[in-house]
Amino acid sequence: MPASNIAVAHATTGLVTAEVVSAERISPSFVRLGVAGDGLADWRHLGFDQWFRLAIPVAGDATRFDRLSERFDMRGYLRYLTLPRATRPAIRNYTVRAFDAAAGRLDIDFVVHGEGGSDGAAAGASAAGIAGPWAASLPLGERVALIDQGCGYRPVAGTDRVVLAGDESALPAVLGILRDLPRDAVGHAIVEVPDAADRQPAGAPDGVDVRWIVRDPGSNPGAEALAALTGLPAWEGPVSAFVAGEQQLATGGRRHLVNDRGVDRSAVAFCGYWRAK
Ligand SMILES: Cc1cc2nc3c(=O)[nH]c(=O)nc-3n(C[C@H](O)[C@H](O)[C@H](O)COP(=O)(O)OP(=O)(O)OC[C@H]3O[C@@H](n4cnc5c(N)ncnc54)[C@H](O)[C@@H]3O)c2cc1C
Repeated sequence: MPASNIAVAHATTGLVTAEVVSAERISPSFVRLGVAGDGLADWRHLGFDQWFRLAIPVAGDATRFDRLSERFDMRGYLRYLTLPRATRPAIRNYTVRAFDAAAGRLDIDFVVHGEGGSDGAAAGASAAGIAGPWAASLPLGERVALIDQGCGYRPVAGTDRVVLAGDESALPAVLGILRDLPRDAVGHAIVEVPDAADRQPAGAPDGVDVRWIVRDPGSNPGAEALAALTGLPAWEGPVSAFVAGEQQLATGGRRHLVNDRGVDRSAVAFCGYWRAK
């Protein structure tokens, strides 16, 4: 994973398997897949930006989910690397967009970059990637596995002020945090998306100003969100901050908050979700 200070906090659900039960292109840049199955009865939903390792079938029915470890820590990763490349799933990181405990169903919003189709030959990345093209194929009925990784966002005790920024890959995380914040929270949220139609209802507390940025096609992903972050008006007192998305946004955002705004390092959760070429 690229630069990050997010921890595997409170991740208690081990490996669960599920099946894709719904698949829909919800906007120009997003596909929403719903996954369900008995395994999700054990899923411990934490809300906010809870994320997980998603094991994606790249060898059809021959994909072996049963040989993955319950935890995807260093040991689990090293074990994964020893599995036969031809039948091990691809592993990517995704955020819980919504969880319905009664239905045992979890929704995931995928950015559908690189829609060329994956070659599916092995668990390595093709130039177009694995997860984006796989989601874009609307893979109804395919099996997946999820390994819970917990939340990256860490609310700072004693403040309900937030500063959140992300690009489209972090839209599920930022909207998840907005959904689960105390209703009297205040602050700012910035979400950059490629297309105006990618905007989604934010469900934010009234006191959090949500700014959507529709990226100029000539801009680097995340650059406009970073500019908006650096342009925010001054605020008083401590904040809980979260910056995620393209690597430059995550690291530049953290640098700005810590160096220019004096935010305590420990109050800034940041994560490079992907790296532009
Ligand atoms: C904690 C965490 C949570 C995340 N949650 C989500 C989520 O809910 N939804 C989501 O869509 N992504 C999310 N991501 C980002 C996702 O894991 C990456 O985008 C991942 O690289 C996608 O895998 P892939 O197989 O499609 O592409 P890869 O094989 O990783 O990369 C192939 C090529 O695609 C490019 N690429 C990768 N991602 C993008 C992108 N978003 N836009 C444009 N080009 C890209 C790369 O630069 C590379 O050139 C999350 C990442 C982390 C770390």
